[in-house]
Amino acid sequence: MKGDFDAELYEEELNGLKMYPKKAFIDTVKDVGFNCDLCGRCCTGEYNDHVFLLEDDADLIRSIDPSALMPSPYFDVSDQNGVFYVVGYSLRIKDDDVQSCVFLENNRCTIYEKRPTICRVYPYMIHREPDEKGHVDWREISGLNEHGTYENEISDEEAEEIYQMTDSYEKKYLEQEIAFRKTLRSYFDKNGLKFVRRDHDRLIRKYEKEKTGEITVMVYHRGGFIPENFVIGEWEILPVQI
Ligand code: SF4
Repeated sequence: MKGDFDAELYEEELNGLKMYPKKAFIDTVKDVGFNCDLCGRCCTGEYNDHVFLLEDDADLIRSIDPSALMPSPYFDVSDQNGVFYVVGYSLRIKDDDVQSCVFLENNRCTIYEKRPTICRVYPYMIHREPDEKGHVDWREISGLNEHGTYENEISDEEAEEIYQMTDSYEKKYLEQEIAFRKTLRSYFDKNGLKFVRRDHDRLIRKYEKEKTGEITVMVYHRGGFIPENFVIGEWEILPVQI
């Protein structure tokens, strides 16, 4: 399980990514021939539970609209005072039927030219993920056959560009996870904080059940933590990512 303070698992993942053959990714991209058909589904919480922001993206979104930021929803660490810690920010979602991204209007992105990196990369990915049977392997395309059109012609230049963007995004994401977990370890040691898995799980269950109260989330950003206070119920607490 990835979680707690364990940066090593993410370091292993990063090393694996560095060894991943570029040709395998490019072949898959060209084979699949994905093309976006502007359905807008990937911009909804119904389809993608959150839009994760790298640190540069979080800074850009803050400059556009600070209220569009929310802590990334997978809280895998808390301290004995009931404060949660997360790896970074995500985009806020609207309270509509499909939980649209706050920047989605009439099925179009209102910040298209400034959209975050993950929105430029999606649906491409280069990371290991379990399939429906729990078999963990490299995955290159998210939501295959669930959106867009397929078997389109992808030029060598386009495939190369997609590879560069995706590889860069995945590496930055893993580097952010590693930095978060290392910073977390030193922050807890320095401030006499403790993480107890059983208490943490109990806290998550309590908030999920009661759906009320205020919580503080310390969001990792550029080597430190930014405290963010939230009222439960204004956004959903998601279970720990495994
Ligand atoms: S920022 Fe734009 S592209 Fe990204 S999820 Fe929101 S609406 Fe979609």
